Amino acid sequence: VYGHLGRFKPLKDADPALILGVGGCVAQQEGERLLENIPYLDLVFGTHNVHKLPELVQRVTQKRERCRETDFLDRETRLRLFPRRSEGESVSRFVTVMQGCDNFCSYCVVPHVRGREVSRPSCDILDEIKELAAGGVREVTLIGQNVNSYGRKEGGEISFAELLYRVDGIEGIERVRFTTSHPKDLSDELIAAFGELATLCHHIHLPVQCGSDRILQAMNRGYSRAECLDKVRRLKAVCPDLRLTSDIIVGFPGEEEADFEETLSLVAEVRFADLFSFLYSSRPGTAAAALTETT
Ligand code: SF4
Repeated sequence: VYGHLGRFKPLKDADPALILGVGGCVAQQEGERLLENIPYLDLVFGTHNVHKLPELVQRVTQKRERCRETDFLDRETRLRLFPRRSEGESVSRFVTVMQGCDNFCSYCVVPHVRGREVSRPSCDILDEIKELAAGGVREVTLIGQNVNSYGRKEGGEISFAELLYRVDGIEGIERVRFTTSHPKDLSDELIAAFGELATLCHHIHLPVQCGSDRILQAMNRGYSRAECLDKVRRLKAVCPDLRLTSDIIVGFPGEEEADFEETLSLVAEVRFADLFSFLYSSRPGTAAAALTETT
C-alpha cells in the first residue's frame, strides 16, 4: 500500500485537487499512521466505514480536512449497513451475505481488522436478489470472508446450503457462484448441492493453503490434508466436471522442503483449474508474526 501511494504522488503533485484515500484492512490496521507517514494522503476509512466515504470526500473538498474513520461498529449497525449493489447495468452482481471471520488462522489479519462474523438475514439477501433479477441480473456471486459458516451464529437462520437452494428458486437467476469457502466448514449439504442445483456454477474456490498437516496445524486451519482431499473427492463424485481453484501460501514460518513437497503433491492430486499462490508475508498482530521472530 505504501509503495502504491508513492506511485500516486506525482499525480497528486500535478493536480492538488485529486483526492487520495486508503480503505480496507490496511487502513483499519494502520489508521492514523497512514496520515502521519503520507503527508499527501487525504483520507483513510476502515472496514466498517465504507458508508462514510461520501461524507469524508465532502470534508476533504469543502473543509480541506484530512480525515480518518476507523471505528468498529456494533453488530446491529453492521447488519443495517450491509452493502447493496443495485446501481448500474449488469447481468452479474456480487451480493454480500456475511462479513468478518471468527477463525483466526495464524497468518491472517482479517479477524483483527474486519471483526467477528456477522451473517445478514436470509430474507434481506433473497429480497435483494429478487430485485436484482427483476432488473435484469442473471448471475449472482454470494460473497463473504467465509460463506460456509453463514448463519451458524445467528439462531434461527438457515444454513449456507439452504440459502443456495432458495436463491436457486428465484425466477430469472440462471447462475449462482460464491466465494470464499473454508474447507473445514464445507458441509455435506453444500457438497450435495453441487449435484442438485441447476443454477450453481460448477466451480468452487477452496483455499487449501498447504498440503502438510504440520503446517496446516501451525496455520490453525482446522482441517488435515486427508480431510481436505476427502471433501474434494466427494465434490468431484457429485459434480465430475467441477473446476476447483485455490490459494496456496509458500514459506510459512517453519516450513521445510518436505512440507513444500506435500503441498506440491496435493496440488498434483487435486489438479486445480487455477491457483493463487503467495509467498508468506508476515502481518503485524497475528500469531504467525510472533513465530517469524523465533524462526
Ligand atoms: Fe478467516 Fe480466511 Fe483469514 Fe482464516 S484466512 S482467518 S478463514 S479470513
